[in-house]
Parts: sequence; structure tokens; C-alpha cells
Amino acid sequence: MNSIHKTDEAIGFLPLPENKGKPITVIGTDAIRDNFDETCIQQAINSRMAPGVTDVILNPDAHAGYGAPVGCVMVSPTHIYPGPVGVDIKCSMSLLQLDIPEDAIRDKATRRALINAIVERTPTGAGRGQRSAKKARLVDRELGASAVTQGASREVCEALGIPFEWAQRCEDSTHVGHDGTYDALRSRLDFILDAGRIRNFAEKMTQLGSYGGGNHFGECEITQVTDRPWARETAETFGLRDGHVSFLSHCGSRGFGNLLAQGQFRDLENKFRAWSTPFPAGDKQLVYAPLGTPEADAYLDDMALGANFATVNHLLINALVLEAFQEVLPGAKGRLVYFISHNIAREEIVDGQKSWVHRKGATRAIPGGHFSLKDTPFEKTGHPILLPGNPRDGSVVMVARAGAERTAWSVNHGAGRQMGRKHAARTLDQKTVNAEFDVSDIMTNCRNYPIDEAPEAYKNFPEVLRSVESARLAETVAKLQARFVIKD
Ligand code: 5GP
Ligand code: MN
Ligand code: MN
Repeated sequence: MNSIHKTDEAIGFLPLPENKGKPITVIGTDAIRDNFDETCIQQAINSRMAPGVTDVILNPDAHAGYGAPVGCVMVSPTHIYPGPVGVDIKCSMSLLQLDIPEDAIRDKATRRALINAIVERTPTGAGRGQRSAKKARLVDRELGASAVTQGASREVCEALGIPFEWAQRCEDSTHVGHDGTYDALRSRLDFILDAGRIRNFAEKMTQLGSYGGGNHFGECEITQVTDRPWARETAETFGLRDGHVSFLSHCGSRGFGNLLAQGQFRDLENKFRAWSTPFPAGDKQLVYAPLGTPEADAYLDDMALGANFATVNHLLINALVLEAFQEVLPGAKGRLVYFISHNIAREEIVDGQKSWVHRKGATRAIPGGHFSLKDTPFEKTGHPILLPGNPRDGSVVMVARAGAERTAWSVNHGAGRQMGRKHAARTLDQKTVNAEFDVSDIMTNCRNYPIDEAPEAYKNFPEVLRSVESARLAETVAKLQARFVIKD
């Protein structure tokens, strides 16, 4: 048992030691709340007590992570924390809505052809990039440098064959440097390359347009819009089509973002040691930099470079996936619904104060009418929230409600792990996992579905969704039912 105090069906508070300061807000029904692991709770407290942190929210998908739990939000007006952004800078979800009716992919042969056409263009697997794709769109060093310093600019989109309208459907289509300029990013990139901090930069850029390994995936879905008038209207604004095929992607900034993040962890750790500054709660994974210092500037620049990579990576993947659909089903049309991150720090207004909101396995959730959505297509409705669950229980598109003000305008980012990878490999049975996919008629590119990625390795997704909805953070606009999954 943990010491979370329940205040509502799906909201609770975790008091701080000696009740010092605002308690941690915990979202989750009883079933969720009673099952957070001890490390996760301890990490939440450590993060909350760390210098300059004014608020921490623990979401129902939370589990132990790097310094801070995966599935938490950490708010600070004065400090930036690289660990609570994570090793996969701007790991994100994106959703492409196609105009293909669900019947068109009912037969297995069509779906197999689609899997092959997609895999030929967007490789999976750690370390793999466009060099291992048969129908590659290879990004050279120079274009790669533009992509990471500009994000989804018109120039970059045109050079890569990405429809530039899609840039409007991104949480952030570009990220600038610490001083608000692109110049800062260009000089930071020059510095990084001169210092030899990213070996094989050119090769890392060929990973634009690829998923990577682990739990990153591409998944073909049937969009099922919730049968309520408000949901139908919102779905229309989002560009969702009921009973039609869509495609959900999960990946981040690949090797490039990883090297940037690891470099930052190392740099800051060394500085803490050199200055004899104690790590928060003795945990080096919670190293930080006070805003305005050269260390914070360097981190913000590296985070922006990694984030721009992730953005262009997702948009390129979506363009390649659309091309694959068109190869198999000529004439198919598709449009990006949204691209939204769950591993990023953003400068936002929280409780009237400008702060850095670190979302570590958490998704921004801003309802309609909020000033920050002004002049976007989602001004009235709120922006789409893309929440993956698991292939068997499906995924959802949600929209934020006013209750999200209590959670620094955030919700969870998925179901969240309930078993570690080793634990899953030891306890789950490969044949049973494979059979489950057959029974649900979900095809995959894998001969054996990765056992540590089985639906059972994740928390109960319906219970997670119940938590979000009963806490009034967000509501479901559409369900996404998996028809095939592409994983490593
Ligand atoms: P993370 O960003 O922490 O790696 O995980 C994101 C979330 O994606 C997980 O919490 C899980 O709910 C979800 N997820 C992982 N694999 C799959 C998959 O193959 N299909 C779907 N729909 N969701 C998945
Ligand atoms: Mn992720
Ligand atoms: Mn990731």
C-alpha cells in the first residue's frame, strides 16, 4: 500500500514529507492507484522536492523511469531537468487519416501487401535507417542539418516531399534555440559537430523516416468515432473519418536525440561533481540547470535540435506511409490529423506563472477556448490527444476538458508498463501471445510478436481511460481498432 489520499473517484494526493508544499496530484481509479510501484512513488516525491519544482502530477500510466517516473508532469518556473524529458527527446505519436473504407483492408492479402509496402519505406529496428529501406528517401548531411535546425520549415518539407500543410497539424512544427533564434541552433550544431560529440552525423540523418526499436511502432487502425453529436463535430475538425482506415505512429528522435540527451546527462553530472553540488535526493538522474545559465542554454538548444529531428522524422514517416498506401490502393488520399509529443519540456503558463512543463510520458491536453490554441485549427474544439493503448484493446483520440487545469494541462501518454521487459519475457508465453493476435485478426510484420511488448506487459487500458474520463481531464472522440502492427 502507498500513502496516496483519495479525494475523488479518480483523483488523489500524495503529501510531501512534513507536508512541505503542494502535494503531488495523482490521477487514477482505485485499481490504478493501489498498483504504482514503490520506485515510481519515490521518484515522484524526489522530483517534487527537487530545486525549483513547483508541481508534479502522476498519471495513471506512471511507472519507474529515468530519475522521474514515466507518466508524470513536472513543472518549474526556474529550472530545466533533462532526465524528466528523457533519453528519447520528443518521443511522439502521430495519426494519418486515410479516405479508405474499412472493407478495403478486410482481406489478409491486402493487409500483407500494405505491411510490405510500408516496411520497404520505413524501417524498424535499433540503429536502422533509410539505408536499409528498399524504397528509401535518403536524407543527406546538408538536408539533415536543415531539418534539425529548422524543423518542419517550408524548405525542409518541400525537399522531403512532405505536404507543408501538415506542419499546421503539429504540436510544435519547429523548435528554436534558447534565445528564440534559429541561429543559436546552427551555432550549437556546429559546436557539437566540431567537438565530435555526434559521430557519424550523416549516418544519423539517414535515420530520418524510420521507427527504431523497442516499443516504437506503426499501426494500421479503423477509426470509430464516438456516437455523440459533440464527438462527431470535433472529429470533423480533427479530420477523422468514421469507419475508415487510419495509421498511428510512435517514435522519437532516434540515435541523434539519444546522443544529445546522453551527452547532456554526462555534462551536467560532471559539473555537479566538479562543483560538489548534491544531486536531488542523491539521484544523478535528476541533474538540472537553473534557467539563464550557459548549462541551461546548452540543454535547451540540444533539446530543440533533437525535437526538430523527431518532428521531421514523424512527418517523413507519414509521407512514406501514405505513399505505401497509394502503391497498394491507387488513388488513396490521406491527411495528418495531428502530431503530439510525450517526452518534452515546453514553456507554458501554469497557474498564472510562466513555467517549463516537463512532460515525461505525458501528453499536453488543452481544451477549446484556451488562449494558446488561438489561430490554430483547434481553437474551438481543443487539439487532438493521441493515446496509444495496446493493439488488442485499441487506442483512442481524446480531447481535453476543463478539468485538465488541475494537471498542468496534461494527461497520460498510453497504458504504461506494468511488467518490466525481463519480467514479461520470463512470465509470458510466446505461443499464447501470437495466438491472441490471430484471434483478434491483427496482422504483424513479426514472425513472433516481441514478448516484452505483449498487451499483458502493459496496464489495463480501459481502466486507465476510465481514470482520465472520471477525473474530467479529457473525453474520447474516437477509438482506433488495430488491423496490423509494425514493430521491431
Ligand atoms: P512509451 O512512450 O513510454 O514508450 O510508451 C507509449 C505507450 O504506447 C505505452 O504506454 C503503451 O500503452 C503504448 N503501446 C506500446 N506498444 C503499442 C502497440 O503496439 N500498439 C499500441 N496501440 N499501443 C502501444
Ligand atoms: Mn514514446
Ligand atoms: Mn521513444
